[in-house]
Amino acid sequence: MPDSDSSKRTPPTGDMSAAEFRRFGHEIVDWIANYFERIEDLPVLAQIEPGDLKAQLPAAPPDQGESMEAILADVDRLIVPALTHWSHPSFFAYFATSTSAPGIFGELLSAAFDVKSMLWRTSPASTELEEVVLDWLRQMIGLDPGMSGIIYDTASVSSMHAIAAAREGVEMRIRAEGMSGRKDLPLLRVYASDQSHSSIDKGVITLGLGQRALRKIPSDSEFRMSVNALREAVDEDKRDGILPFCVVATVGTTSTSSIDAVPQIAEVCEQHALWLHVDAAYGGSAAIVPEMRQILDGCHRADSLVLNPHKWLFTPFDLSVLYCRRMDLLGRAFSLVPEYLRTPEQAKVRSGSDYGVQLGRRFRALKLWMIIRYFGHEGLAARIREHCRLAKLFASWIEESTDWEIMAPTPFALVCFRACPGGNAQTDSAAAKGLDALNEAIMHGVNASGKAFLSHTKLNDKLTLRLSIGNIRTTERHVRQVWELLNDQLKALSGSG
Ligand code: PLP
Repeated sequence: MPDSDSSKRTPPTGDMSAAEFRRFGHEIVDWIANYFERIEDLPVLAQIEPGDLKAQLPAAPPDQGESMEAILADVDRLIVPALTHWSHPSFFAYFATSTSAPGIFGELLSAAFDVKSMLWRTSPASTELEEVVLDWLRQMIGLDPGMSGIIYDTASVSSMHAIAAAREGVEMRIRAEGMSGRKDLPLLRVYASDQSHSSIDKGVITLGLGQRALRKIPSDSEFRMSVNALREAVDEDKRDGILPFCVVATVGTTSTSSIDAVPQIAEVCEQHALWLHVDAAYGGSAAIVPEMRQILDGCHRADSLVLNPHKWLFTPFDLSVLYCRRMDLLGRAFSLVPEYLRTPEQAKVRSGSDYGVQLGRRFRALKLWMIIRYFGHEGLAARIREHCRLAKLFASWIEESTDWEIMAPTPFALVCFRACPGGNAQTDSAAAKGLDALNEAIMHGVNASGKAFLSHTKLNDKLTLRLSIGNIRTTERHVRQVWELLNDQLKALSGSG
């Protein structure tokens, strides 16, 4: 048919016709709905070898445009088998996260609007919606109104900006004069626990402070920063002529989801006039559950706090929020308005590009606005509450079993555990290695089954399995299934060993 023939050709100029856009748009939405309906039939972890996908793709780009039919067929044939399905309800690795329908619609609209949210006038809707929706989120997690929010792509970037604002606060003209070649500049010090995320190290590296500027403070038996050790480190550094300026506390550490004692850390910061940044990238979302609000105790004394809606607020990647009490310092560190960006209203409005390294910024607030409106505060809290219930249920099975042991407390929806058949006491280093190997084999066995995906960490030098529940589709059935898979693996490996 002439109609379908023309649909196979890319127009010589301009974009796809409205009729075709409508047709493929409907088809893609149907495809996504089917994808979510059949996702449990797909292996969670991509079952391919490195290089498999590249080998199937042409090395050179096409000279002529191709039909959408051909492109979409290749999504099915090539892309889907090479995906690790983060939206699978049995994705329990790292921090399990997921997108949601209103979030997907927000991304779709944002791609259509394609605004570059750099100045108020290039994106009034994005600029003002961002302020409003971040204030909603601030209220939902119970932070005080002294904190203003700004959206970045990731927590890594949010924390880097927080440390940059803290550095601006030391009043050493670093923006103008830099740090290299200066004899008048002492070593500037940042403190974080040995459980803090590697993004803090990277932030320090990116800002040119140097890795030696980051002092890792030991953590206690429950993986929380030792406040006494922090106090001693700050005192010692001051005696040695080092300039302490920033402490990073974590609410929900990456390995175990432990919560640093923010009120006590805040005391140290106040005593020495140090900037307190709280990395609540994972844990912060749980504060929207009214009975869990205490996880942010002490954060009203923080100078900045990062929270990732793309982790546990059902927001498609990416969207990280930095709350900052001193937006003036963030602006002093980054604002730079060349003539071609000067606008008559600039003194009256906020422009996102004044608060970071990026000029153009995506319209990310739209998806978060749609998610909060669609689920409501109570709906979001109910989902997070259920994830925490499922994690505690799984932890109770571990505790009741003599073949498994809990490796860390479960304050959120992450369980750290490992196999220790028959309560194995692990008396010598050979037995310790054997247990590590057994647990690694159990994890690889579960992951290779395609039915669930777990990841690991090391705690007190012991290989530890992590089960993170954060996917909007995960139910008790999925958690029971992974428990069975783990026990099947343990039986098979113990039997064969
Ligand atoms: N902070 C914590 C506590 C994390 O667990 C992670 C990632 O898991 C990050 C920061 C980095 O997050 P992003 O990928 O948004 O940079």
